Amino acid sequence: MASVSFEHVYKRFNKVEVVHDINLKILDQEFMVLVGPSGCGKTTCLRMIAGLEESTDGQVWIGDRVVNGLEPKDRDIAMVFQNYALYPHMNVFDNMAFGLKLRKVPKSEIARRVNDAAEILGLQSYLQRKPKELSGGQRQRVALGRAIVRSPKVFLMDEPLSNLDAKLRVQMRAEIARLHQRVQTTFVYVTHDQTEAMTMGDRIAVLNGGKIQQVGAPRDLYDFPANKFVAGFIGSPAMNFFEGAKVEQDNGSLWLRLKGGQALRVPEALAVRLESYIGREVTLGVRPENLEEGAVARQRKGEASEREMAGQMVGVKVDVVENLGNEQMVYGAIGGQQVVARVDVRVQVRPGDEVEMYVEMGKAHVFDTQDEHSITSRPPEESGVTEVQMNEVQATEVQTTEVASIVEEGGEEVSEVEVVEEVQVTEVTETVRVQTAETDA
Ligand code: ATP
Repeated sequence: MASVSFEHVYKRFNKVEVVHDINLKILDQEFMVLVGPSGCGKTTCLRMIAGLEESTDGQVWIGDRVVNGLEPKDRDIAMVFQNYALYPHMNVFDNMAFGLKLRKVPKSEIARRVNDAAEILGLQSYLQRKPKELSGGQRQRVALGRAIVRSPKVFLMDEPLSNLDAKLRVQMRAEIARLHQRVQTTFVYVTHDQTEAMTMGDRIAVLNGGKIQQVGAPRDLYDFPANKFVAGFIGSPAMNFFEGAKVEQDNGSLWLRLKGGQALRVPEALAVRLESYIGREVTLGVRPENLEEGAVARQRKGEASEREMAGQMVGVKVDVVENLGNEQMVYGAIGGQQVVARVDVRVQVRPGDEVEMYVEMGKAHVFDTQDEHSITSRPPEESGVTEVQMNEVQATEVQTTEVASIVEEGGEEVSEVEVVEEVQVTEVTETVRVQTAETDA
């Protein structure tokens, strides 16, 4: 068990810098996901932890030692790759035992560790089979087993599920999350798939262009994206962006005038953050679930609907409707800009319709057009600090601990991630509960 840290880490290949000034502290026993588009540098970061690449600058720590220059075999890590080649001529037992044999671990100890790993992974009845006699998911489990038997301080996983079909991926996702609970070791998991990141990580580091864009618990990244990149990357279907929305003031309210002329009233809580943008253009971001068909929204809101919905309706020209059974995705355009809405299946809507939609502006995001930072997201760290100021005590150190557990809820297993922020003050220690995030296991 160990923490892993990057301190001002850079990586250059032939003078091309692909990783820029990475600073990241991965806590002991944490499940950290590095996520980002192809080529953003996530594998390079993982390989620098493993010792398969050396950083050009900066320090990589595992536990309390700097591991720069240390051979991979001396780092006490185990890595599972996308291409988890198993030895085809060896059975499952020997595949899992191979690394231990090389390290001259006594036979009885090897048998104990392989059997333990097989039990954790449900492979007991397959130990004598050759890889070709296994399904894709079972083979993947053997690859995980090879890592588990080593009892490493840190597990490194590089897109381990991307060769599996969609159904198996969902199943293995939950199995890896359970494995993490069981072995209680630090996991660093690389993926380009935001759903994997959201469902598996205690925390997620989003990378783009070799830089960390934001680090946080899944729900924090979803609710408080620091910039347009994170907002667009996390969430599926992706957030809708309305470029060139003009901030206008009228009768004491702020409005966002979209291209094509429709305007949306900005609620008070967001308006205070937009005051310095009056007369300027911004980018409005609205998640597909925050667009609701007008009649359904009115029914839901009842008597308060007219007051609450005033200035928050737009007309959408529909071009595609995808019915997914439990919901439908309605694609269309507002002022020439593409938009997708997650709409109740009871709503009858067809391509060619002009649909009135309620925009839940209280959940909207607004981004600066120059540097694309979020003007409206309140960084989650602020929540804890605000509470401390209310109590009028002075914080000297803030420590965040995340406690993950799988619980039964309505017959379904749900992974519950509880973020507990412990604020150390000069004389008093105060524990502030800041958030509970829930994700499907
Ligand atoms: P993917 O999801 O496609 O695997 P990634 O985010 O893991 O992408 P990396 O593999 O870390 O990205 O690569 C980051 C950048 O570094 C890419 O532009 C890649 O082409 C470059 N790169 C990686 N390895 C080398 C190398 N050995 N020599 C030169 N350039 C490299």
